[in-house]
Order: sequence, then structure tokens, then C-alpha cells
Amino acid sequence: MKIHNFSAGPCILPQVVFDKMAEACINFNNSGTSILEISHRRKDAVEVIDTARALVKELMNVPESHDVIFMQGGASLQFPIIASNLLKEGGKAAYMQTGKWAENAIKEAKRFGEIDVIASSKDKNYTYIPKDYTIPTDADYFHCTSNNTIFGTQMKQFPNSPVPMVCDMSSDILSRKVDVSKFGVIYAGAQKNMGPAGSTMAIVQRDLLGKTGRNIPDYLNYATHIKNESSFNTWPVIAIYGVMLNLQWLKEQGGVDAIAKINTEKANTMYTEIDRNGLFTGTANVEDRSQMNATFVLNNEELKAEFEALLKQAGVDSLTGHRDVGGYRASMYNALPLESVQVLVEVMKQLEQKFG
Ligand code: PMP
Repeated sequence: MKIHNFSAGPCILPQVVFDKMAEACINFNNSGTSILEISHRRKDAVEVIDTARALVKELMNVPESHDVIFMQGGASLQFPIIASNLLKEGGKAAYMQTGKWAENAIKEAKRFGEIDVIASSKDKNYTYIPKDYTIPTDADYFHCTSNNTIFGTQMKQFPNSPVPMVCDMSSDILSRKVDVSKFGVIYAGAQKNMGPAGSTMAIVQRDLLGKTGRNIPDYLNYATHIKNESSFNTWPVIAIYGVMLNLQWLKEQGGVDAIAKINTEKANTMYTEIDRNGLFTGTANVEDRSQMNATFVLNNEELKAEFEALLKQAGVDSLTGHRDVGGYRASMYNALPLESVQVLVEVMKQLEQKFG
């Protein structure tokens, strides 16, 4: 039976990525060696990471002023890295608090200096994106989260920040067009639209670095990774190979603009049904709804077992909501076909026919 994988991350990737990664585990590029047993400095491995970086630059139209690097430690390690690289000794940074990941970013940044939380939607369990806030001109940077994976909200536009803007794009990177030149740093754990888990991508504006007065450990210093072209230490060759394949797939689909259109169609299909079907309610503020993660609940909890049995029958997998929200979460990342959303919508309709 075909499985429709709505996992929030790690998540569905294109079949061609799985096929080529599997092949490379046995015989990488017909070299007679597995990709798991080769040096990250071997020529054909270096080509992989160079291609991956070049594809990010091309697909996101990254300006010359910015570098693309791959690191490890996930987006969670970027939280302290951002502050250690950009928050000056004795300085302060402004943060927007729109969910659990933003909370974690704030917690880590506080270890390095004064953090001004200039807007928060915690008062309503992060069901909306704050709009009315002012970014202080004396902050070293402004940090926001473009898509709140757990709560199903997404920033539809970015402010014109008077200070460098830093954005955690872990869960909507490459899903829509963004103007990279507006940002000082963009970062993302790979395991959604970039590729498999195991690497983290950062796009860093070079001239922001080296100004904090802080003695930053080498690995945590963006300058180290820029200088070493992401090969400062051993990087996960298989994971970056997956990223490269996934970016090649995206390019073949027509790039970010083309996938954005499909993502909009998927999200519209999903939210139209959530709003039409009397058995369900969306949990996020309508104007802030995420195109990547649609969060919703059953109005009558007594139908839970019935709904979940129908989901199982239809091959719908990993729809359970995060424990902080409950209910359901349909994650519709780039590789999820429209057909999977249509199958889910059909199940919701079936439930309504039986119990509505
Ligand atoms: N930020 C966002 C928006 C996320 O969705 C996640 C993980 N789902 C993280 C940060 C943390 O990422 P990681 O597990 O790579 O540390």
C-alpha cells in the first residue's frame, strides 16, 4: 500500500533521493566503494559538498556578500552560534518569540548578553504571528523564526529591519522565494526541505563577522567554516549527498518558484477542507497559517479512534500533532505530492459522511 507521509521532520524526500542514496551506500559513483567508507576529502566527496553549496546559491539567488556553509549540530546548535558570532560583548539583541524553537533560541542567546523579546505570541499559545512591533536600532541583530513547525504559523512577510536580520528557516527553507539580501544570517536544520537529518545549512553575510570582541571556539565560529569551505572537520558525507540530490531534484522541478506554486495548491486544498468540514477546526490564526504545517483538531474527541482507523486504512502516516498543541498536524513539505493531501482530504470527508 502507498504510504502518505505527513511527518514534521525528518520527513518525506523525493524517491529519487532514496534510490540514489541507497545505491551510493553500496557503490558510490561506480567507484567500488561505499559512500560510508570514503574520506570527506576525497575528490568525489568534495565535489558533493561543493555542488550542494552551489545549488543553494543558485536556487536561493544568494548574493556575493553571503556565504553558504554546512555544519552539524542541527538548528539547535545555531541558537548559541548566532549569539556568539553576532552579539557584541555588552551588546543586546532583539528576538521575536513565536514558538518553542524561538523560545530555545532566546534561552541560548541569553547566555551571551542582553536579549530583548520585542514581540511574543505566547499569550495565545503561539497561534498567531505578532505584527505590531518595533525593532530597536541599537540592537546588534533581530532574530525571527519564519515558520513555526509545532504551532503551524508562518511569517508571510519579513520586516524591513534597521539591524541585521537573522532567521531560523528550518521548516520552510526552499519552499518559497525569499530575498536573501534582506538577511544577515539564514539557517536551517536540513531535515525538512533540504534533505536528510545530519547537517545544518547557514547563509552568512561575511562582513557581519569578527565584531563581537569575543573569543569564539573554532567550530562555533562562522568564519572558520567559511574559510575552510565547510571542510573544517569531518562532515557527514552521506547526509550532504542526500542534500545535493534533493537540491538537484528541486532544480529539475523548476526551482523555488515552481515548488512554491505547488505548495500553495497543497495548502489551499488542506485548509479549504479544514474550514469546510464541520468535524474539524484549524488551530492557527487564519492569516498566519503555515503552508508547511497545517495544525487542526477534531471537534469531538470521541471520533478519534474512527478517524485514526480511516487514516490507517488510507495509508496516511505521521499525522499526530505535537504534544504542545494536540490534535493533528499535516506537514506538507516540498516532496509531499498533492495527491497525498487529496487522500487525507478524502478521509476527512469520509468521516463527515459517517458522523457529520
Ligand atoms: N527550528 C525549527 C523551526 C524547527 O522546526 C526545529 C526542529 N524541528 C528546530 C529549530 C530544531 O532543529 P534541530 O533538531 O535541527 O536542532
